[in-house]
Amino acid sequence: MALKFTGDFTQQEPIPEAAIDAAVAVMRHGRLHRYNTVDGEIAETVLLEQEFAAFKGAKYCLAVASGGYALSIALRACGIQHGDPVLTNAFTLAPVPGAIQGAGGRPVFVEITPDLILDLNDLSAKIAFTGAKFLMLSHMRGHLVDMDALIAITDAAGVQVIEDCAHTMGANWNGISSGRSGVVGCYSTQTFKHINSGEGGLLITGDAEVMARATMLSGSYMLYTSHLAGAPPETFEDIRLDTPNCSGRMDNLRAAILRPQLADLPAQAERWNERYRALEAGLNQVENLTLIERPAKEYFVASSFQFLLPKFTADQIKTIVAACDARGVQLKWFGAENPVGFTSRHDSWRYVDPQKLPNTDRILAGLLDMRIPLTMTLDECAIIAMIIKEEVGSV
Ligand SMILES: *Cc1c(COP(=O)(O)O)cnc(C)c1O
Repeated sequence: MALKFTGDFTQQEPIPEAAIDAAVAVMRHGRLHRYNTVDGEIAETVLLEQEFAAFKGAKYCLAVASGGYALSIALRACGIQHGDPVLTNAFTLAPVPGAIQGAGGRPVFVEITPDLILDLNDLSAKIAFTGAKFLMLSHMRGHLVDMDALIAITDAAGVQVIEDCAHTMGANWNGISSGRSGVVGCYSTQTFKHINSGEGGLLITGDAEVMARATMLSGSYMLYTSHLAGAPPETFEDIRLDTPNCSGRMDNLRAAILRPQLADLPAQAERWNERYRALEAGLNQVENLTLIERPAKEYFVASSFQFLLPKFTADQIKTIVAACDARGVQLKWFGAENPVGFTSRHDSWRYVDPQKLPNTDRILAGLLDMRIPLTMTLDECAIIAMIIKEEVGSV
């Protein structure tokens, strides 16, 4: 009988007991709003911001309602004006163009390479062509571009970089923590990222004015002095009355759940990567299947796995996806005509002006993606790889 995978691609691990206890404590005292504290109390949200800033080695940190919200206020805090072009990866998730549009920007897509990272030649060309002053760099699915080369290009052109680190919270490039190279780094704590509060986001920066504007935007009223990883109070003097309140704060319940998970993240990262390596080992040397090369300078945290089937037609890929699915292996294909689940593409975002991205289109036509939840065992990863190998080999 053919091997089958009977596990689940979307089942995350339970919230750790310490996090549950912390959440229950918040519910027992009832002060869920970050600015609702008693004398001498430091809100869970503020503690999370301090701990996340320390984890990243960042000066300032702000906890917000979602990763997409962090991206959007990051652009506004950096001074975007209505109609400004904002460069971003042509392969990214829907919240990224959504955040650009929401901040009044105009997404301009930059081609990717077969390693699923930004094409730096196309980046240079599009900076020159559009005169864009913002790049929202999406480390999509945790693949890091050569950050040294990228920052050399953007610095020379006076382009501000906002990093979308939804999949790189625990990652680094050449020892520099992901999100620390740009002006702002944005993170998501949505269930399928590296720490899980259902929804949530974090923003880091070393720029006091950007931080003060982001804090006012997030809805801090005049209570920003309670932020212990926030900008110095004097920074707010010129900003506080000129910046709209677009409420998107994080609450103490989510922060309480996240703090113990943040402490566990380095160990969890290793567990994710063991699973990634098991899949990679099982799919190495499979004919017509291309693995994504991971550079030595990249430390990634692999909560998902991608590979390319560049030689097959759309119908052949459909056959492979269906055959894997029948054996319990859910592959997401970015080449289908219609987006399914989270597989929308640049041409699915019809509020953006249509753009020609032939290289990205060719790569996405053969791109398969799957989640790696930590509930998946190493043996199961080996079984999944075996199933994919057999089905790719039988077409
Ligand atoms: C999840 C994600 C985001 C932000 O997601 P939210 O659901 O808004 O927290 C941004 N970019 C990428 C690439 C993502 O996967």
